[in-house]
Amino acid sequence: KDNQLARWKDEPTVTADGKRIVLQANIGHAEEAEAALKQGAEGIGLFRSEFLFMHRNDLPSEEEQFAAYKKAVEAMVGKPVTIRTLDIGGDKELPYLQMPRELNPFLGYRAIRLCLDRPHLFLTQLRAILRASNYGQVRLMLPMICAAEEIRQTHRLIEQARTELTQEGIPYDSQMKVGIMVETPAAALLMDQLGAMVDFVSIGTNDLVQYTMACDRMNESISYLYQPYHPSVLRQIHYIVEQAHRNGITVSLCGELGSEASAFPLLIGMGVDYISMSASSILAIRETAASLDSGKCERLAASVLQCADQEEVLSLLK
Ligand code: PEP
Ligand code: MG
Repeated sequence: KDNQLARWKDEPTVTADGKRIVLQANIGHAEEAEAALKQGAEGIGLFRSEFLFMHRNDLPSEEEQFAAYKKAVEAMVGKPVTIRTLDIGGDKELPYLQMPRELNPFLGYRAIRLCLDRPHLFLTQLRAILRASNYGQVRLMLPMICAAEEIRQTHRLIEQARTELTQEGIPYDSQMKVGIMVETPAAALLMDQLGAMVDFVSIGTNDLVQYTMACDRMNESISYLYQPYHPSVLRQIHYIVEQAHRNGITVSLCGELGSEASAFPLLIGMGVDYISMSASSILAIRETAASLDSGKCERLAASVLQCADQEEVLSLLK
């Protein structure tokens, strides 16, 4: 089976009727980039940078971060590498940051909120990512966005990092794309506005499901409510794609839903441009794509958006 799949490695991802979609890989460490490329990834759609910060006693320096980002970028030889800025908090703690104890960590001091509260920490990372952009195609991505002001503040910090690097004579890609994760209903429902402020968006379904369903993604006793195919989740994905395209920007999806074969026709039908998944799923999904008709996928998506619950959606997808 693996041997049969291998023939898809260097092929583009296209449906039977010629609709193009791009399949990328999620990684947590720079060392995984090379293997992702070998498994047919057309880029890195999500580099979870927080792993660089975990299991140690202090913050990684700008040099350490730069080395890791550069390594991933060089391994991908010109293909895009989407580096997500620090997404800590929620279930992922950093003892050395002395983060406050909270009643609701998933609704608390995390990700972009923490970074904007600690601009020195954030600037170090932004500088490291900008420096890595000199060695390939880097896309910088912000996690847990809920408000336009978070994007404005980040743009100001990126501008400051650029100015510093220019003054220091350190090279970077002045065209580096900046995008956001859409993983809260607040961001999803504001896509018409937020889409005008960024170069791309990427849907984080793991958190979007959690926040839409008001269902802790780690809590076993309510896991029946954690429903990626709930019509309220799918309607948001549909709206995000529609409004992002109206703004002339592309839409990625990088949550676990992207690896599910049963979701794939639906995501094509809704018009998602890029899907980022665990590298081991890429070739099988690419093979599936070749047997699909995009018109049928669109009709499937249209009917799914009229469903009342996840059960109905799942029976349509069968
Ligand atoms: C997501 O929320 O869907 C996502 C890709 O990010 P993470 O799983 O790291 O929260
Ligand atoms: Mg997330």
